[in-house]
Amino acid sequence: MPLKSPFQIGIPSTDILSYIFPQGSEPSGQPLWIDADDTSNSLSPRQLLHWVKRFAIGLDKLGIRQNEAVMMYTRNHIFIPVFYFAVAGTGRIFTGCNPAYGVDETTYQLQNTGANLLLVEPMFLDTVLQAAKKAGLARDRIYLFSDKPCQTTQGIKDWRTLFGSDDEAESWQWHGMSQQESQRTVAALNYSSGTTGLPKGVMISHQNIVANVEQSLYMRNLEQPFRPEDAPDERWLGFLPLYHAYGQLWSIVAAAKTLTPCYYMREFQYDKWLGAMQQHRITHIQTAPPVLVMLAKRPETEKYDLSSLVNITCGAAPLSKELQNEVSDKLKLKIVQTWGMTELTCSALHVPGGLDERSGSVGYIDPNCEIKLIDDNGNEVGNGERGEIHVRGPNVCLGYWRNEEATKNAFDHDGFLKTGDIATRDDRGWHWIVDRKKELIKVKGYQVPPAELEAALLENEHVADAAVCGLQGEYEELPRAYVVLKDASKGRVSPEDIQNWMARRVARHKRLDGGVKFIDEVPKSTSGKIQRVIMRQWAKQDAKDL
Ligand code: AMP
Repeated sequence: MPLKSPFQIGIPSTDILSYIFPQGSEPSGQPLWIDADDTSNSLSPRQLLHWVKRFAIGLDKLGIRQNEAVMMYTRNHIFIPVFYFAVAGTGRIFTGCNPAYGVDETTYQLQNTGANLLLVEPMFLDTVLQAAKKAGLARDRIYLFSDKPCQTTQGIKDWRTLFGSDDEAESWQWHGMSQQESQRTVAALNYSSGTTGLPKGVMISHQNIVANVEQSLYMRNLEQPFRPEDAPDERWLGFLPLYHAYGQLWSIVAAAKTLTPCYYMREFQYDKWLGAMQQHRITHIQTAPPVLVMLAKRPETEKYDLSSLVNITCGAAPLSKELQNEVSDKLKLKIVQTWGMTELTCSALHVPGGLDERSGSVGYIDPNCEIKLIDDNGNEVGNGERGEIHVRGPNVCLGYWRNEEATKNAFDHDGFLKTGDIATRDDRGWHWIVDRKKELIKVKGYQVPPAELEAALLENEHVADAAVCGLQGEYEELPRAYVVLKDASKGRVSPEDIQNWMARRVARHKRLDGGVKFIDEVPKSTSGKIQRVIMRQWAKQDAKDL
């Protein structure tokens, strides 16, 4: 029997714009999204709504249709919530590209989403122009995107030139969505490889987002709905990238719902990050294990006053209880683990707020969700046994964009999402993540799909075949490639040559930092599939030998 959450909550059946700005309510004029480098640069919900209306009018004039994707390619800045709510909030689809991506990775996402408009931070214009050309997106569908007005560059204009006037904004009305529309309308396409293959656009509906914000806030503040007045002194740091589900959920939507000031950082640099925590007296952060490694191990940590920080929510990759407790003791604060994935909007397991959990558990099921743990034979396991997590609930995505086959394979016969993560559960219903069965490698909390690196390696003139898997280091995984060279290339190239060649083609976190090893043959099944289990054994052995 699936384990049902003991908590059932009412989830507003509405779209995200009506969720944040309910009819008849007066939006707050207090600064909410604040530039961490320049606090005079900020946006209140009232300003946000005004800009959202002006940009939505621009989208109408450009003819961007409902259910059509609009892409952003930028580091974090305070106008991203305007983009998010104007695009997704009015029935178009938000998609964010990692600004560390090169031309090929960007082209892939542009083509895959079919985005018909692209907003780019000026410093990345060259990459985006090359990708747009390859993807067949016209130059007049590209605009510069910044929190400050920009000069036209290479013929590309500022996104502000699209805006409707103040008067037009005054009379613009959002009609809202019916319950059914909010359930089936895609709000965001966030990219994930799921349990296998290349990155795919995960279709996140309006209802998914509303549900996951409500579930997460409920788990934070167990057994009573979260109200802004419950947390009057919270201040968050918006450093998680906003093209990723984790950043969107907390730093855009939950911040707007709870009216919690969120200080946006353009990018993560440890020294600057510590400085921002100290300067803005940050109380709560949402983060991933690599940041906890830095807090525990880097000497700079001692130089800053982090006494305002009372709570760290940590997810996105495995966190050992030793590291969790080390940071918790060192900084005298609570660390609350959560588990989720892009396909779950963001999360489905939380250690409930208020409980100081030191066992490394990721907690129990979010309200209105059900979880099964399934063994390799498809049977549910008992408490204390290992099984793959299958989830059903209002935060589970609609499937993969324009990919029926992958969507079909992602769910079991009861409609539960197969997550590819292995967990155990105790008698109280608490869970521990113990392994990952899917192909995915996680580097600094970011996804690295082996299939993507394998496809890239096969484009190298010396490579006959390749398989990639994660090499487990002390605190993190690193992508490692096993490469079969073409006969003519043997003795002419080194593993480092291949490593360097890849480094020029992929985003930083996807580099082959776990090394390259030349082998005679990639182990494959009779149907030609890479035998991932054998690859993992090799990597385990190599991790010991290296
Ligand atoms: P993403 O879709 O990028 O959010 O990645 C989701 C994957 O990250 C999950 O399927 C897990 O493999 C991993 N993950 C997320 N949270 C945790 C956690 N608390 N512990 C271990 N792995 C996690």
